[in-house]
Order: sequence, then structure tokens, then C-alpha cells
Amino acid sequence: MNRIFSNTLILLFLLSFNFAYSWGTTGHRVVAEIAQNHLTAKAKRNLKKLIGDQKLAYWANWPDHIKSDTTGVWKVTDKWHYVNINPQPNFKMFSDSLQAQKSPNLYTQIKALGEQIKNKNATKQDREVALRFLIHLMGDAAQPMHVGKANDLGGNRIKLKFFGDNTNLHSLWDSKLVDFQNYSFTEYSGVLDVKSKDEVKNIQAGTLEEWLYDSQKMANRIYSNSKSEASYSYDYNYKFQPLLERQLLYGGLRLAKMLNEILQ
Ligand SMILES: [Zn+2]
Repeated sequence: MNRIFSNTLILLFLLSFNFAYSWGTTGHRVVAEIAQNHLTAKAKRNLKKLIGDQKLAYWANWPDHIKSDTTGVWKVTDKWHYVNINPQPNFKMFSDSLQAQKSPNLYTQIKALGEQIKNKNATKQDREVALRFLIHLMGDAAQPMHVGKANDLGGNRIKLKFFGDNTNLHSLWDSKLVDFQNYSFTEYSGVLDVKSKDEVKNIQAGTLEEWLYDSQKMANRIYSNSKSEASYSYDYNYKFQPLLERQLLYGGLRLAKMLNEILQ
């Protein structure tokens, strides 16, 4: 094997492990900004004690940025961003397999972080860090592929092309589809956050388990309409833009609901 060829193979090998982790920067900020718009007066006052006048969107991507930390202290949080569950025929079975996973994951950590923020005996710094994670992870919980199948790593192993660029199904949903819309996060949250009070209440109803099941059902719709090795462009956007926007909006409103309960 000549050197250039073997180097190319090594490079391809490394690239194939460059897995995406979560909504890109815009998606997470859209979720956070929508949540900010729906906080109660009480939650806003308590939030101010933790992060001052800073906005939720400012911290929305921090839990991804710390993956570049070289001290190793955050390594344990890598697995907090997703919970892989194979498709289940009903909520009961979904919930059972969710509860059966004991090692830290998206579901266990959202619950644990909520408790941490509420814990008056915890230090302010610990509560603030927990808040940063919660803002981010509630965004991940609404990205369907973060509740995707285990055998393809939430779509990371499904290679395809989007507008000619090599990518994978997970990454397409994390950022490429969001970025294609070409909005800033404030513009995007502005055009999405237009529901009536009653509609907001309906979207915020339910439990964390039900919200994750909702994401999984959306993931299954995505799986059955996305083919490995396919070349997608405008057609894919046309088909999935409404679902993408539903997830960003629902993520934001449900984060608000959670923060309003935690910070009361
Ligand atoms: Zn993430």
C-alpha cells in the first residue's frame, strides 16, 4: 500500500469517528431563547440569582464546548447528551426501556440536574453549572436523533450527502438543516415563537418521559424517510422543515416549563 493511500485511509477512519453531538450553536440558542420568553416572574427572579442578567442562550452551547477541555474533568458528561433506545411500539415499553438504562444518560441527567438546581445546600457554582447543562440537554432531548437507535449511534452511522457535502443523518439534524434556514437565533426564535396561550399550554403538557417518547416517534419518522448513501438537498428540507421547527419550538417551551417548576 503506498503512503498517500494509507494516509488517506487513516484520515477517512478518523473522520468517520468525528461524531456530531447535538443541535449546532444556532439550534441550541433558539431553544434557549424561546424558553427565555416563557419564564414566569418568579423563575426570572430566581434565575437572576444564578446567572445575573445573562440570557439562557449565552450558556446554551457551553456543555458542547467543554468537550475540548483537556484536563478530563468533564469527560464523564459526554454521555449525558443522548439516550439511545430502539424503536418501541408504545409508551409503556418505551418508558420501561428508558428506566432500565441505569448509567448516566440524557434522561437520568435531566432529572438529576433539576434536583441539583433546586438543592439549596449545593453551592451556587454547582447550581449554576447544573443550569447550563439543563438548558443544553433539554435542547438535545428535542433533537430526535438524540433519542435514536443504539445500533447506528443515533444516525451517526447513516452516511449521506446534503447539498453535495458528506455528512450523516445525526449531523444533518444537529446543524445542517438548521443552518440551511439561514436565520440568526433571535430571528429564528422570533418566527417560531408565535403560538397562542392555549397551544403553548398543550405543548408544555406531559412528563419528561412523554417528551422523550415524542422525540423518539419523530426519530422513527426521520429514519423511515432518510436513506443511507442518499443525496439530499431542497427536497429533504421541503419534507422536514416543519418537523425541524416543531422540535425547536417544543424544546424551548418545554425547557421553560421545566425551569418554571424548578425555579419557583
Ligand atoms: Zn449536546
